Amino acid sequence: MTTQTAQGQLREHVLDAGLCTVCGACSGLCPYLKPFQGRVAVVDRCTLPEDEGRCIAHCPRVGTDMEQLHQDLFGSTYSAEPVGAVRKVLMTRSANPAVREAAQYGGTVTTLVQNALSGGMVKRAILTRTVDGRPMGVSVSTPEEVLDSAGSNYLAAPTLAALNQTNGSGASPVAFVGTPCQVIGFRKVAGLAASSNGSGQQPVVIGLFCTWALGHSFLELLKEKAPTGEIVKTDVPPPPAQQFDIETTDEKVSLPLDDVRAHILDACATCHDMTAELSDISVGSAEGISGWNTVLVRTERGEKLLQQAVDSGILEVQDLPEASLEHLKMASTNKRTRAFQRLSEQSGNPEELGHLRMTSQAAHRVLDGS
Ligand SMILES: Cc1cc2nc3c(=O)[nH]c(=O)nc-3n(C[C@H](O)[C@H](O)[C@H](O)COP(=O)(O)OP(=O)(O)OC[C@H]3O[C@@H](n4cnc5c(N)ncnc54)[C@H](O)[C@@H]3O)c2cc1C
Ligand code: SF4
Ligand code: SF4
Repeated sequence: MTTQTAQGQLREHVLDAGLCTVCGACSGLCPYLKPFQGRVAVVDRCTLPEDEGRCIAHCPRVGTDMEQLHQDLFGSTYSAEPVGAVRKVLMTRSANPAVREAAQYGGTVTTLVQNALSGGMVKRAILTRTVDGRPMGVSVSTPEEVLDSAGSNYLAAPTLAALNQTNGSGASPVAFVGTPCQVIGFRKVAGLAASSNGSGQQPVVIGLFCTWALGHSFLELLKEKAPTGEIVKTDVPPPPAQQFDIETTDEKVSLPLDDVRAHILDACATCHDMTAELSDISVGSAEGISGWNTVLVRTERGEKLLQQAVDSGILEVQDLPEASLEHLKMASTNKRTRAFQRLSEQSGNPEELGHLRMTSQAAHRVLDGS
């Protein structure tokens, strides 16, 4: 490393290196870094040294110690298990048809966040809402506002800027919903807030499965294809579909998936986490089973949140078919292996995985396929 300021480090090793996931963890803290048109813009120079800049301390793409984060959350070593540490695997959906209608799949995420707020587990939630086609972080406190954020936007979102703007997670307990890179950023932000203000407030972290997210160049493709009406939903149906579905107020259109894939963020090629392994509870599609979610319960807090929702009759539960879990494990392992291979090729050393720190056993377990 040659530059000395925190901002210089962030520029050289993340922003200019194509590693930025646009998660927003470095933004909303100081006036010099701002999410702008799908990237982080440096609007002025900051002279803080690297050990004082929260931007690099928060960034999931700088010195992310998976071993430490895993120990802090689960009290066990990080061993790169296919879908991380899991207590229970389930399939769930909201019992409320209005929630299912607004949601991406089964509305499990919306239901869990609504329940966390109305049951008093948290005071507010940091979610992602689409405004003028662009996703942005929002801080909400009512079940109605949670419903307004239902549905997935496949553009990468600077959601964590909203957490920073609302004074860090140490101020009061929050629920956070995010993709795996955002969840890693959240754990770093929350860990720093807890150690600086001594807060023992426990957040609730709901992670979304994620294979990739799109950069804003995708908006140009959308403009070119120009579906009429306002976009109400986008989706990536399971293989063999190979298409990206867009539903507007007027019509339904599908784009070839390869055309859409051309707009995937560069950073996603070095992302090792498909199932948001540092969440309390992770939620994704139940591939091929329409209107349901796959749910991985990871922590005691996640289990409590789920159980409360089931007991109050707002969440329906079924077993996830064994074949679906095996398929998820395979997809997740493939993603991690691709990322580790790319990172070790870049460093020329299988034990140096770029921004990731872990035991050499964990790295070799993946790279050697053992
Ligand atoms: C970029 C991206 C990629 C994904 N890739 C996969 C995948 O490969 N496989 C899979 O099974 N599932 C994937 N998902 C998750 C899936 O789309 C659903 O979000 C998840 O199954 C929960 O469904 P639900 O019906 O419970 O969600 P809902 O109840 O509709 O809640 C969705 C939540 O997603 C949040 N959200 C919306 N857009 C974003 C965003 N850009 N960034 C962060 N949070 C957002 C909102 O805050 C909302 O609370 C992806 C999601 C995103 C955002
Ligand atoms: S914190 Fe997030 S948005 Fe900021 S540079 Fe790192 S990856 Fe990009
Ligand atoms: S693939 Fe990884 S880096 Fe890309 S958006 Fe998803 S979690 Fe973030």
